[in-house]
Amino acid sequence: MKTGFLILGALALAGCGGEAAPAHSDTRVVVFGVDGLDPEMLQERIAAGMLPNFAKLAAAGTLAPLQTSWPPQSPVAWSNFICGTNPGKHGLYDFIHVDRRSYGIKTSMSESDPIGFELPLFGYKIPLSGGASRLTRAFPAFWEVMADAGVPVYVHRMPANFPPAPTTAITYPDMGTPDLVGAASGKAYLWSEDVTPGSGESYYKKRVTVSRGSQTLWKAFDRVQGPDDTLKNLSGLEHERDEALKSGDMGGANRIGKEIERARETYEVVEFNVDRTGAEPQLAVKLGDAWGVAGLGEWTEWMPVEFGMLWGGLMPISGWTRFRFVSAEPFEVYGAPVQIDPFAPVTPVSTPDDAAADLAAAIGPYYTQGFPDAYKAYKAELLDTAAFVEQSDTVMEERGRMLDYALGQWGASGGLLFFYVGSLDMRCHMLWHSADAAHPHQEPPGEYDGVPYAQQIDRVYRQVDDMLGVLMARIEELERAGGAPVELMVMSDHGFAPFRRKMHVNDWLVQEGYLVLKPGTTSFEMCALELDRHGEPIPGTGPVDWSKSRAYAVGFNGIILNRAGREPAGIVTDAQAAALQEEIRAKLLALRDTDGTAVLTRVLTAAEVFQGDQAQFAPDLQLGFNVGYGASDECAIGGVTGDWQQGAYLVDNDSRWSGSHLMDPELVRGTLLVRGKVSLSKDPALEDITATLYSRFGVAPPEGIDGKPLF
Ligand SMILES: [Zn+2]
Repeated sequence: MKTGFLILGALALAGCGGEAAPAHSDTRVVVFGVDGLDPEMLQERIAAGMLPNFAKLAAAGTLAPLQTSWPPQSPVAWSNFICGTNPGKHGLYDFIHVDRRSYGIKTSMSESDPIGFELPLFGYKIPLSGGASRLTRAFPAFWEVMADAGVPVYVHRMPANFPPAPTTAITYPDMGTPDLVGAASGKAYLWSEDVTPGSGESYYKKRVTVSRGSQTLWKAFDRVQGPDDTLKNLSGLEHERDEALKSGDMGGANRIGKEIERARETYEVVEFNVDRTGAEPQLAVKLGDAWGVAGLGEWTEWMPVEFGMLWGGLMPISGWTRFRFVSAEPFEVYGAPVQIDPFAPVTPVSTPDDAAADLAAAIGPYYTQGFPDAYKAYKAELLDTAAFVEQSDTVMEERGRMLDYALGQWGASGGLLFFYVGSLDMRCHMLWHSADAAHPHQEPPGEYDGVPYAQQIDRVYRQVDDMLGVLMARIEELERAGGAPVELMVMSDHGFAPFRRKMHVNDWLVQEGYLVLKPGTTSFEMCALELDRHGEPIPGTGPVDWSKSRAYAVGFNGIILNRAGREPAGIVTDAQAAALQEEIRAKLLALRDTDGTAVLTRVLTAAEVFQGDQAQFAPDLQLGFNVGYGASDECAIGGVTGDWQQGAYLVDNDSRWSGSHLMDPELVRGTLLVRGKVSLSKDPALEDITATLYSRFGVAPPEGIDGKPLF
């Protein structure tokens, strides 16, 4: 993802600042959203006596499995809830969408306009039009409609809601909100004397030299990276690079490219001091003017950091980060991704804009990025299992402070409070292997906080139960103080299952002759056409022979036909599409793993699943994987691994990302738990909860909503 949008957002921000109008409502409803809360795993743990608060709520209330979305991916499922509709109306189908102009990929949750034209000024390019980033969601969110109708609404962290669309409701986005350098799940740091340096989408591994000249004080220096200064005018260098490319001087083009990168780089120097005078080493970090200290295995406080950006620092870009002292010998420090500053956000991380500062004033700086649990750093082995759980604990503690703040706001006005927790989902994804002897990925056993790794999923269920206990106690306290009874619903977007075998869907399509590679090509990362420097696709480029290809995969649960008139080099006519869908579906349903297990339990056409004006953008086939199976990361970005040459498209999932839910929705249902005995009007689905909320507040839902009130 490019970082430019953050800066553009800052320019757009000047002068806004809405006034939230939390009036008063006698109706009081709380929805506790727990990402990935599985109904069977919940009931097993209630039965085992692990979860006293869930047990109490379930005994006096109504517990039911909840229909999730096609496909059961968090951004899609939460969007079904946000809108009360199927994806055919809100338009979000996957974490990753195909870019239909180029067979490339784009993020599904937000999109940016190309910059209209630019004014070179003082060495910087000032965007004069466009450049704004916005949500792709094509249907109103429940809080927008309810706030317009005068209901006080508080949405404390909603997935797939960045950048937050203007509303008078108080909202904070979660999943999809980047860190300050624009990384979707944050770009973390590992500084070490003993690491191979490198950087990826989610991490910097930095090798440092520690000067141990003094016995008692060791020192090391490095940099914390800021966002690229994309406003700097480097058209001279860019022109030189284009010329080098044209003349085939790849070495020269690379060298100039590096020079451009360096010119755009912003950073702050970080100084690590290790004090060896005491029995235990102490870390003192200096970052700009700020100091932070930590003992071994501890975190510093959040520390402010500023990157001078525009016009020599007249527009500073600020953030917050914190450091964990991992080890003295070898020296090793982990750094949290630099967060967008909630006190002075470079792009809004709340509605109204100043709600983020209000929250930070109450609870201190916090993780503004979505998915703050360091799952990607754990996947990239910057952290061991104990350190991953420890970091995720800090996220849960922070969420506890947010809950306290949110209950204070909502308690005063009544109305609707939605509160979200993502840590349970993250730990189920990342720690499944610890409790699954049949999983291809295994690690040595260990423990954290006195709990073996194999029981850490139980532990996070207990942590969520504790949070529910706090919530229920506050609700009971409010009720004793008078007013209407409080309605409480606990819900999840989907359940959970093991993910042991992965399918390279594009390799399978190659093997079956649906995707045809250019002669001499056997594997590639992405099937996309190449883009010229204006971002326009160049026909005929890329690794695929589109004139012979009928289908391809981009995303985690879809197959897309190469349709004439829709894809840039489409060949499948409308008349051929239905028969081709049936042919591919039949073959997929017949697929068996080596032990005879069906790989997919259901495959549906777009028309069978989606209805609405956005349905035209859906993948043509929806893949309902069996428990244990899922699409590979490689195929999700449109890649072919080359395994098809060995007749292989199914391989072991030897990854810490070992639990999943991107399967047949029936196999990974979510959870609905309602306070009090109610008789549900139907088999509940995510969209029905939205309709129920509209009905509880007597607000007319938008036309076209699919959900039905449940009680
Ligand atoms: Zn998940």
